[in-house]
Amino acid sequence: MVEAEGERLIIDGPTRALTDEIVAAVQTKKADLLQLIRPLEDRQCWHAEDWQAYFDERAAIREHDGGLPRVEAEHLAFEETITQWLRLNPDPASDPRCGCVHCGLPEQPGNSLLPVLALGGQAWVHDWCWAPWMAALRDEARDALLSAGIQVGHPRGSCRRRSR
Ligand SMILES: [Zn+2]
Repeated sequence: MVEAEGERLIIDGPTRALTDEIVAAVQTKKADLLQLIRPLEDRQCWHAEDWQAYFDERAAIREHDGGLPRVEAEHLAFEETITQWLRLNPDPASDPRCGCVHCGLPEQPGNSLLPVLALGGQAWVHDWCWAPWMAALRDEARDALLSAGIQVGHPRGSCRRRSR
């Protein structure tokens, strides 16, 4: 069981299951874990216009407060919007006996299955599969946001779609 409490990450489970290896692996991925699990607390239904508003706000902050060029501000804002999408759309829980949620293989020597808080429980992913799994989730989020009509890289007010 892995939980977020503010910036702290709480790992809870049978002591024998929490090997130093697992604890170390979880610690190195703390930031990602926090990003992924914190959102479960405030899950809600966002519509296309909510996503556009979130993206616009993040981009404006980067551009005006951060002093970044618009293109760079939008790029970073879109990455933040993807993170937010993943927060609100967590993966479903999995059974560790079914193996890694990314590759489907069982636990391997030196490549532990790590529990990640997921919708309705925990999802289990190999230590080594973490990065490609996250990348795949972000690709999925990117596609979902673009098909929801988020406009990235368009001059303000030109061809912006109204709410659908
Ligand atoms: Zn795997």
